[in-house]
Amino acid sequence: MSEPSNPARTAVVLGGSHAGMLAARALSGFADRVVVIERDVLPDGPAPRRGLPQARHAHMLWSGGVRAVEELLPGVTEALRDAGARRSPVTTDMVVMGPRGWFRRWPESHHVILAGRDLLDATIRARVLADERIELLSGAEATGLVGDAGAVTGVRVRTRGGTGGGDGSGSGSGAGSERIVPAALVVDATGRGSRAARWLQALGLPAVERREVDSGLAYASRLYLAPEQARSGYPIVNVQPDVRDGRPGRAGFLLPIEDGRWIVTLNGTRGGEPTAENDDFVRFAREELRHPVIGELLERAEPLSDVSYTRATVNRRSYYERMAAWPENFAVLGDALAAYNPLYGHGLAVAAQSAVALRESVRRHGWGSTGLSRRVQRAVARPAGAAWDLAVGQDVFYPGATENGPTLRDRLLAAYVGRLMLTATGSGRIARRVTDVTSLERGPQVLLTPTVLLAATAGPLKRPLTGPPLTPSELERAGLRAGLG
Ligand SMILES: Cc1cc2nc3c(=O)[nH]c(=O)nc-3n(C[C@H](O)[C@H](O)[C@H](O)COP(=O)(O)OP(=O)(O)OC[C@H]3O[C@@H](n4cnc5c(N)ncnc54)[C@H](O)[C@@H]3O)c2cc1C
Repeated sequence: MSEPSNPARTAVVLGGSHAGMLAARALSGFADRVVVIERDVLPDGPAPRRGLPQARHAHMLWSGGVRAVEELLPGVTEALRDAGARRSPVTTDMVVMGPRGWFRRWPESHHVILAGRDLLDATIRARVLADERIELLSGAEATGLVGDAGAVTGVRVRTRGGTGGGDGSGSGSGAGSERIVPAALVVDATGRGSRAARWLQALGLPAVERREVDSGLAYASRLYLAPEQARSGYPIVNVQPDVRDGRPGRAGFLLPIEDGRWIVTLNGTRGGEPTAENDDFVRFAREELRHPVIGELLERAEPLSDVSYTRATVNRRSYYERMAAWPENFAVLGDALAAYNPLYGHGLAVAAQSAVALRESVRRHGWGSTGLSRRVQRAVARPAGAAWDLAVGQDVFYPGATENGPTLRDRLLAAYVGRLMLTATGSGRIARRVTDVTSLERGPQVLLTPTVLLAATAGPLKRPLTGPPLTPSELERAGLRAGLG
């Protein structure tokens, strides 16, 4: 931070990852200056870093999120593709075994962007930081809020080196020092480890209502070099769990990303977890998933990394929007607000949609207006809540996920969704409606129209597929035999 600035026109964003960078962009049209405070020293390009351990696992960005990111950073999808990211049409370029059978490869309804997480972040970060109103203070940890229960007036920051120096606004400078950065709006985007609830309590606010649904999912991921003929492009391959039987769910997906690589994730809920052993990876894919196709593909690919393992998969939501009192000038979004079981691949899209909601709230109600932060908090809760209902609606069925197990409502809804999934295997129209929702392009109400209800009653129009719908060319390019049943 170089020059003294007017705190009344300054926004501070805590956390410089996906949600933080997009929130900074969302605010840069209103504030004179947006300071992003990030604990890590961020790399110049796509490289791993300590504060983003999930980057070693597969990440996909659904089109509902792509649209939101594009709205904030026009042209970013093209930049990602230029850097090697892939655009995969849904379900055209997907080989998916759903809970009720193989999906057909219907004409494009939606799409996903596939890239290593480090590439995705680096591309977005470069575009955000090109905006001269946005500054990065890296190697700096937010340690608390300044203000009182009525209004936040700044943030307490401990610097440990990195970029940014004293700007005359704080009470200290240099490595290891504490200072206060005053701001007219503070946005917490510090991810799953957010301490916002504690910080608010320290200001005199009550505890926030929280919910956790933990399927006990363990995630094992490994990077591969695809067989030579498959490096220039390959479909997504995904074997999903079937939650009906109350047994652990095991799933796997293979995502083609930049540089001819495949990032492969295998996972299992409580009692069905994969191990973290390199030697067990292909075996798990072949023997423990509902179909061995991913294992077969990996037999002919070259491992480029060891297995990365995580259990940071619990669905956790803080209902800040329901708090009876909420201070002016403070908002929480991204994983800090709600984090989901990563199996559904929704966190990135929700963060982007929340950043757009932040921008729209400030635009509608005015920078510095009374009650703005309360309105922002309610607005960002909408996309967060939509993804929450999708994730939790499925995860409550796994053993031990909740104290009391699924409710009657959960069971009825799941039975209907199951029927829709079955219908989608043999009806392009219903597959489109289902992906309207999973892509986060539309809300679940599209699944409750009379036409969809009728179609679900009638069931699939085509016979079930007996094996993965890989084309002869795709089989050959991956070195597989035809008729993989
Ligand atoms: C295994 C796994 C796989 C996933 N796969 C997908 C997927 O396929 N698709 C998808 O959409 N989502 C996926 N997700 C979710 C996605 O990773 C998150 O939703 C996304 O990273 C949230 O972004 P965020 O900016 O809110 O938090 P994070 O990306 O976690 O970033 C938080 C940032 O805050 C910084 N920070 C933390 N504390 C402080 C502090 N006190 N002061 C300053 N800085 C701080 C950290 O260093 C970090 O940079 C996956 C998650 C996991 C765990």
